[in-house]
Amino acid sequence: MTDADVIVVGAGPGGSTAAYHLARHGFNVLVLEKTHFPREKVCGDGLTPRAVKQLIKMGISTDSEKGWLPNKGLRIIGGGIRLELDWPDLSSYPGYGLTRTRLDFDQLLADTAVDAGATLKTGHTVTGPVLDDDGRVIGVHATGEDGAPQTFHAPITIAADGVSARFALTMGINKRADRPIGVAVRQYFRSPARHDDEYLESWLELRSKEGGDTLLPGYGWIFGLGDGRVNVGLGVLNSSVAFGKTNYRRMLGEWLAATPDDWGMNDPANADGEPQGAALPMGFNRVPHYSRGVLLVGDCGGMVNPFNGEGIAYAMESAELAADVIVQALGRATDVERDRTLALYPAELKSRYGGYYRLGTLFVKLIGNPRLMRVATHHGVPHPALMKFVLKLLANLTEPRGGDAMDRVINAMTRIAPAA
Ligand SMILES: Cc1cc2nc3c(=O)[nH]c(=O)nc-3n(C[C@H](O)[C@H](O)[C@H](O)COP(=O)(O)OP(=O)(O)OC[C@H]3O[C@@H](n4cnc5c(N)ncnc54)[C@H](O)[C@@H]3O)c2cc1C
Repeated sequence: MTDADVIVVGAGPGGSTAAYHLARHGFNVLVLEKTHFPREKVCGDGLTPRAVKQLIKMGISTDSEKGWLPNKGLRIIGGGIRLELDWPDLSSYPGYGLTRTRLDFDQLLADTAVDAGATLKTGHTVTGPVLDDDGRVIGVHATGEDGAPQTFHAPITIAADGVSARFALTMGINKRADRPIGVAVRQYFRSPARHDDEYLESWLELRSKEGGDTLLPGYGWIFGLGDGRVNVGLGVLNSSVAFGKTNYRRMLGEWLAATPDDWGMNDPANADGEPQGAALPMGFNRVPHYSRGVLLVGDCGGMVNPFNGEGIAYAMESAELAADVIVQALGRATDVERDRTLALYPAELKSRYGGYYRLGTLFVKLIGNPRLMRVATHHGVPHPALMKFVLKLLANLTEPRGGDAMDRVINAMTRIAPAA
C-alpha cells in the first residue's frame, strides 16, 4: 500500500520545485511541511538569473506588478570603489535577477506545486524514515497537526528539509567537516532611500566606527525589496578566524551604525523585526546525495554556492534534476533497474557542479585570509574587465557551450578541477 509515488519532506524552494515537476508528469506527490504558510525563512531574498530561469520553468510570472523587484546586476563595494556590473548577456539565462521576501516566495512556489497537482500537508513534521527489511526507505513517520504520529508510504522520498537535514541525519548521512560552511544574519529596515535599488549590493569590506575605524570580518549585502524595505545582512565563512567566535548580530549593528543617515539603517527605530541568522551549507557538504530510496535536494545536500552564498537556485535546479531522474526511475520494471536509474542523480550533480564547487571550496580558503583578501579587493575591484570575469565566476553565469573567452576559461577551469 502506498500513499504517493513520491514523498517530499519540506516545502522550501527545493521541495516545492521537485513536487511541481513530478506533478506535471502526472505523478502522485505528497509534500509534508512542518510549518504553515506564510512563514518567514531567514534569507537575503536575492535571486540571480539562475533562480529566475527556474521560476520561468515553473510558469511563474516575474512581472513587477506581481510583487517582484527586478535587478540589473551586482554593485560591488570594496577597495574604496563602487562598481556596477550588469548580469551577463547570455542565451542560457535571463538578463535580470529579482528580490522578494521568503514570506510569500515560498508560499508562491508551494501553491504552484499544488496547482500542478501535488498534495501539500502543512503542520506535518517528518520524524524519520520507514524502512523495509533490507533497510530501504519506503515511507516516512510524521507527526500531524494534533501531534499524533502518522505514517506515509512511497517507493521514493525526496529530502528537502533544509540545512538542519534531520532526515539525512536519521539515515546516518552526516556533514563533511572538510567542506565550506557560512553563518549569516539578516535584518529588514524601512529605507525609502534604498528600497528600490536596481542592483543587488555586495560589500567586500565592512567597517566599524566603534573605537576608531576598524575592519570587520565577513561580507555584507543590501538588497532592496521594492516595498519600502531593504534586506541587509552579513556572512562569515568557516575559513575565517572569526567564524564561531563572533557575535554576528552585534557585528551587523556595528556595520550599520557606520552607514549614511539617509539610508535609515543606523537607526534601530527603522528596523522591521530583529536580526536573525542561520547557516549556509556549501560545496556539497553532505553526501551521498542518493541512498536507499532517498534523494537529497538543496541545503540538506549542502548545495549552496561557495562563491556567493546563493542557495535558492541550486535547491531548485537539484530539485528539477531529482524529478527528471525519478520520472525515469518510476518507469523501470524492477527495483534493481529503478535503483540504477536513481544513482544517476548524484552522478549528474557531480558532473554539473562538482568541479565548480571544488574551485569554490578553494576560493573560500583563500578569502579566509584577510590580508590576501584586502590585496585582491584593492587591486581587483578597480579593473572592470577583471570584475566582469569575477561576476561570471561568482554567479556561475556562463554559456555552457561556446560563449565568450571568459565563459570558455571558466568552463575549462571547472572541467579541469577534480569534482567535489
Ligand atoms: C542569512 C541568509 C541569507 C541568504 N541569502 C540568500 C540569498 O539572498 N539568495 C539565495 O539564493 N540564497 C540565500 N540563502 C540560502 C537559502 O536561504 C537556502 O539555500 C535555501 O532556502 C535552500 O532551500 P531548501 O528548499 O533546500 O531549504 P529551505 O528553504 O530551508 O526549506 C526547507 C523546508 O523544510 C521544512 N522542514 C524542515 N524540517 C522538516 C521536517 N522535519 N518535516 C517537514 N518539513 C520540514 C522547513 O520548514 C522548510 O520549509 C541565504 C541563507 C541565509 C541563512
